[in-house]
Amino acid sequence: MKKKNPINEDIEIQVAERIILNENNFKFKKYNLFIAFFLIFLLPFIGLEIISNFKLNLNGVNKAKKFLNNDLSILGHLPYKEISKEKLVSIEPNIQVHIDMSEALLKMREDAIKDGIYLVFLSGYRSINLQKEIFYSLKSMRNQIAAERAKVSAPPGYSEHSTGFAIDIGDADKRETDFEVQFENTDAFRWLKKNAAKYHFKLSFTQNNKNVDYEPWHWRYEGSIEALKVFEASNRNLKKLQN
Ligand SMILES: [Zn+2]
Repeated sequence: MKKKNPINEDIEIQVAERIILNENNFKFKKYNLFIAFFLIFLLPFIGLEIISNFKLNLNGVNKAKKFLNNDLSILGHLPYKEISKEKLVSIEPNIQVHIDMSEALLKMREDAIKDGIYLVFLSGYRSINLQKEIFYSLKSMRNQIAAERAKVSAPPGYSEHSTGFAIDIGDADKRETDFEVQFENTDAFRWLKKNAAKYHFKLSFTQNNKNVDYEPWHWRYEGSIEALKVFEASNRNLKKLQN
């Protein structure tokens, strides 16, 4: 008797266990179906909500970044304060520049002559009022909208010329290329490209600039702390564009 019972008990237990397992399986499947239903119908909504929240956060981050970088540019031009009159010196009857850059600029012209290159200074300091005249009068004359005009001239208050640290340069032997992209084919430009950095001059609007047209004649001085401070934001933007 003792030998029979364990076998029967084993069978009973196995059957009973199977029933319990099946019941559990059924419950489990029902639960899974419910979860799957929930996920299929609700996940897209949850996803959309997460994405839109993420976008909102990103916008916030971008806004904060812009604020931190002090990116106050308009149509690709950064704002510049007008230089105080006492820092201006005349280097020619119609050309005034920042006193910090006058020496380097004149030395550059002298040294160019030694190489047979004759640089002409076309435009130096321009007041915000003069820039206003240039920007708005030319804009209406050429029937251009502000964004188109801004590609070839800075809006008033946004010109490097107002700082006294910018100079437009031409070639005395090729005056027809004054303020023209063709200036890049002159000996004067080739000389400047090779030598201007020695005198702390740098091309402001290169071919890589997306917002402002290429201006091979427009150079800026970065040879003093004041000048570097003035162009800090611009240089930071250039670095960002290169990365
Ligand atoms: Zn210029």
